[in-house]
Amino acid sequence: MRHRITVLGAGYAGASAAGYLARHLHPDDFEITVVNAEPDFVERIRLHQLAAGQDLPRHGLAEMFAGTGIRLRLARVTAVDAERRTVTVTDDGGTDRIEYDTLLYTLGSTVGDHGVPGVHEHAFHVAGRPAALRLRRRLDELGEDGTVLVVGGNLTAIEAATEIAESRPGLRVTLATSDELGGWLSPKSRRHLLRAFDRFGIAVHQHTTIERVEETGAVAADGTAFASGATVWAAGFAVHPVAAASGLDVEDDGRVIVDRMMRSVSHPEVYAAGDSAYIIGENGRPLPMSCASAGFTRMQATAAIIGDLTGHRISKTSLAYLGNCISLGGKDAIFQLVGGDARSKSWSLRGRPAAHAKAAVLRGSVWAVRYPTYGLPTRRHRLTTARYRMAEAVAH
Ligand SMILES: Cc1cc2nc3c(=O)[nH]c(=O)nc-3n(C[C@H](O)[C@H](O)[C@H](O)COP(=O)(O)OP(=O)(O)OC[C@H]3O[C@@H](n4cnc5c(N)ncnc54)[C@H](O)[C@@H]3O)c2cc1C
Repeated sequence: MRHRITVLGAGYAGASAAGYLARHLHPDDFEITVVNAEPDFVERIRLHQLAAGQDLPRHGLAEMFAGTGIRLRLARVTAVDAERRTVTVTDDGGTDRIEYDTLLYTLGSTVGDHGVPGVHEHAFHVAGRPAALRLRRRLDELGEDGTVLVVGGNLTAIEAATEIAESRPGLRVTLATSDELGGWLSPKSRRHLLRAFDRFGIAVHQHTTIERVEETGAVAADGTAFASGATVWAAGFAVHPVAAASGLDVEDDGRVIVDRMMRSVSHPEVYAAGDSAYIIGENGRPLPMSCASAGFTRMQATAAIIGDLTGHRISKTSLAYLGNCISLGGKDAIFQLVGGDARSKSWSLRGRPAAHAKAAVLRGSVWAVRYPTYGLPTRRHRLTTARYRMAEAVAH
């Protein structure tokens, strides 16, 4: 029987990991199955654009995996049993159970409501494609005369607010954030950001914590009421509850705790990468949920899976956090470098050059998923029993 590798989730981490593994592992020895809820690879980092009204190119997973031998299972993962090594999935045909020998957990993240009442019932978000399309329909309904409240002051909130304001100039966009808007940016970048918000006419309420979302607006901790036709919750991401219920060791926020090689510290035949993994980066802090982290962690996870299963040396991938590239609508952006202490460096790229850099990042991230070996020739390795040598290397 072939060794069964199951990859959960086909986002930035999972889709490229599956493609990479399929090109490095011998098909006579390995069977690779990818389970994903949607038939497409979703460019999550462009979902604010989709919500604002732009049509994004579709990237069918079946077409991406064609010729690789990967089995694609379109279904929703509802449970993982790490003791029994099974995954429960549901689709239109009902519930099914998939057995695995090695699991790569890359289910990503979704919107995090921080327990704020009303978010789930009344707010919109851009953390997944169905949600982004729902917001888009709502913005269409508002037409040229409505108000949009964006909650949050970090990357997603900034990108969502500016994209909506640029694409739908008839709407009045307000942003409320509990901290300072872009407070972590270098002074030059922050000035650029505030000028952009000014140019778009976005009203900014800093040090304003939203405590409740209602059908027609939201209420802040100091009692300020914001009327809004669409409240966009962009105040952070949370992971899916599947890992926490699986028996795997997880952090308080539900992310899978992994060792430096991305193996679960409790179940070494399970690996995690991307937003679902909790791993300390080179700067001594947890890697942030980001597309770049998904790239680095998937590289490390696939190197470890191949090494553990075939006896090859496992190379160490740098788990660095280098900076953010934040779009401000389609023609403006900020590319902020971050140092080893996770603080913004004084150097940043702003305006058109940064917008070009962001466009290159967007193109590059899809290319890296389509061509996970970067077009380089590969060798297919055979399974070895040496895999179990690595059990003692698992960090506790
Ligand atoms: C609007 C927006 C803008 C962003 N901009 C940036 C940016 O500029 N730069 C940056 O670095 N990061 C950005 N991010 C964050 C980035 O998108 C994530 O960090 C990245 O997608 C994580 O990759 P991943 O592979 O871990 O998860 P994902 O890309 O989310 O992939 C997870 C996959 O799992 C599937 N899945 C989830 N649950 C289930 C289930 N139960 N059953 C089956 N399948 C399931 C999903 O359909 C998806 O295909 C942005 C995010 C958003 C929402």
